[in-house]
Amino acid sequence: MARNGLIGRAVRRLGLLAGFAGVSLVSACGAGGEAGMATPAGPEPGQPIQAIQVAATARLPAEAACPPAGRDFGRWLSEFRDRAVAAGVAPAVAARALAGLTPDPEVVRRDRHQPEFTRAMWDYISTAVSASRVARGRALLTRHRQVLDAITARFGVPGSVIVAIFGLETDYGGFTGGFSLVRSLATLGFSGRRRGFGCVQLFHALRLIERNDLAPSALTGSWAGATGLTQFIPSSLARYGVDFDQDGRIDIWRSHADAFASTANHLVRAGWRAGAPWGLEVVLPSGFDWRMAAPDQTRPVADWAWLGVRPAADGARLPPPDLAARVEVPAGHRGPAFLVTDNFQAILGYNNATSYALAVGLLSDRFGGAGSPRLGASAHAGGVVRPWPTDERPLKRAERLLLQRRLDALGYAVGAIDGIIGRRTRAAVRTFQDDVGLPADGFASSSLLTRLGSATSGTP
Ligand code: CA
Repeated sequence: MARNGLIGRAVRRLGLLAGFAGVSLVSACGAGGEAGMATPAGPEPGQPIQAIQVAATARLPAEAACPPAGRDFGRWLSEFRDRAVAAGVAPAVAARALAGLTPDPEVVRRDRHQPEFTRAMWDYISTAVSASRVARGRALLTRHRQVLDAITARFGVPGSVIVAIFGLETDYGGFTGGFSLVRSLATLGFSGRRRGFGCVQLFHALRLIERNDLAPSALTGSWAGATGLTQFIPSSLARYGVDFDQDGRIDIWRSHADAFASTANHLVRAGWRAGAPWGLEVVLPSGFDWRMAAPDQTRPVADWAWLGVRPAADGARLPPPDLAARVEVPAGHRGPAFLVTDNFQAILGYNNATSYALAVGLLSDRFGGAGSPRLGASAHAGGVVRPWPTDERPLKRAERLLLQRRLDALGYAVGAIDGIIGRRTRAAVRTFQDDVGLPADGFASSSLLTRLGSATSGTP
């Protein structure tokens, strides 16, 4: 899902229809896109894309637009409607879209759900980069070749990456979500853990309905508010949406051109560099200092090469030496290692999960084409050379909580003890590993939990 840190960041919104007076963003995001080739399915390079213009007068409501939580959904809804109208939504649109709504119990259930089990990275990758998905993606690349080439010329994002995101987000349009977006967002805005998010997205959903003259019931998506072929939340769509087929509206539900270009635009705005790879699988030198695999250890590819980092696949080459990159070991030091660039970070800007960004990169590689690593005969899930450590058992929720409590008891800052192994918990794991002489890969394994158990014996 295309998430970004928009909430509460009062900036600007992009017009969904042509005709807003404002500043063209094309020059700001056309890096590498001036290839001089014909663009049969989109605007010529150098020409403004009419629809991505800043609406100078639009006001973005901050979380303050969220009415206080109460017991009465109807009262909350009418207060939200008044605030949305005050912030510029047409009264008739707000009234029509919000009339007769009730909270969706399924959305409440999913918002509260905390999974007991998590999937192992290799299981996720194996499904995400399945042979069927690779084959269907290749066929789509051929079918949409013309428009994808035009989008690459404009935005500098390869068609293979866009189609990989399309595959990961909705299985190529087969699963775009059947929840009413307005009802889901109103439910989230009324109660639960994501009230601010729900309110801001509900406001943007109302603007979307108004500008595109949509029937509110036609706006469907995931329970968490993402919609369309490549799954945008309404604020991201308002910000990054592109009318690439130039029919006057941004239609990421039916127009592949609009959905693909909007995704490319999102990646560019998250820092995508034209011509650079997302990363590649590498072999780390023996005696590698695992502290250098921490997320803040970014350095030029030339430095990694000097340290002895080598491509894992036959015939693969490291990215250009001056490109910034970091080492990622998503399944710990016993699994495959990757050297990832700023483009990997841009994919994380689309959906902030390492497993997701890695799946997008590996899937795009599997589509083939110039520069893609060739698969060895013994490739493992996702086409990687080094086996995944499939004997590692993913920790259950109770164990993840225990791991956090044990680290906390030893004085390592894990952030909230919530059973989620996020950035801070991984950093705490890394520090603990380093302190006791283990490879500091930040990987929360069952053996680490046992080791923490003996370190905390006698501690409550
Ligand atoms: Ca369009």
